Amino acid sequence: MDIISHTLTGIAVGTVLATISKNSGKRKGLIILTGGIGGAIPDFDAISLWSKFDLTIGTFLGLNHSGKEIYFGKFWYSHHAALHSLIAPVVLILTILIVNLILNRKVVSGLNIFKSIKVNKLLILAFFFGFVFHLLEDMPTPSSVWGGVNLFFPSSIYIGGYGNIWWWNNYDLVLIISSVIALNLLVNILPNRFLKFKRWFCISVFFLGLGLFIFQTKTRPVDFSYIDHTTKYYEFEAQSKSIQKSILGDKLFQIMSKIDNRIPFNF
Ligand SMILES: [Zn+2]
Repeated sequence: MDIISHTLTGIAVGTVLATISKNSGKRKGLIILTGGIGGAIPDFDAISLWSKFDLTIGTFLGLNHSGKEIYFGKFWYSHHAALHSLIAPVVLILTILIVNLILNRKVVSGLNIFKSIKVNKLLILAFFFGFVFHLLEDMPTPSSVWGGVNLFFPSSIYIGGYGNIWWWNNYDLVLIISSVIALNLLVNILPNRFLKFKRWFCISVFFLGLGLFIFQTKTRPVDFSYIDHTTKYYEFEAQSKSIQKSILGDKLFQIMSKIDNRIPFNF
């Protein structure tokens, strides 16, 4: 899926955890932002597709393969590889906690790491689940050269690649995710004496959105699955857009297409 849908999903996860918390507005904002970052981070492995990768990072690291070969390859640093695994967010979270301890001139010990986890548990959960939902969202896209995501890295097994949805232009899914975010932000207006209701509401909205998301994913009338590369690439993309037009109707589809055209990357 595209980076915007992934980031919005992380934000949606963040809105649930922010609503659950009794924290201040500022802290809630940080939880939501952290969820968004967690949702975006896995696709950082697409940096090898950057036009200047070979001349900069590739040369600096003395890599034997071009950025394009790396992106479409099966190296641990290729797209959908180690950074699309469950162990990646754990390693990243621990690294950030340790760096934070060092910067605050504290002893790096198991006890201090445990204390940091306890204090920042909602931020950590937002990052972790934002990250994990990104991995899950990539599974219904086509196999292509990867065959899913390397969920259990360092195992070499790739999971997903089901071809239920196209890589991007899944506007219906974006609208579902955006609705979850909007409703969860809205319920935060209520004071904390309604905390029990707020918690029930945001969790219900999230799972309702998740159910709708899965339903939409599983009921596309076209099978987008392909292995390696496909000659039907543009045909699939057009079919995916035509499905969106029939789901959203002309007016909403035009609005979403306009937004899509203004965004300088795949959405
Ligand atoms: Zn991804």
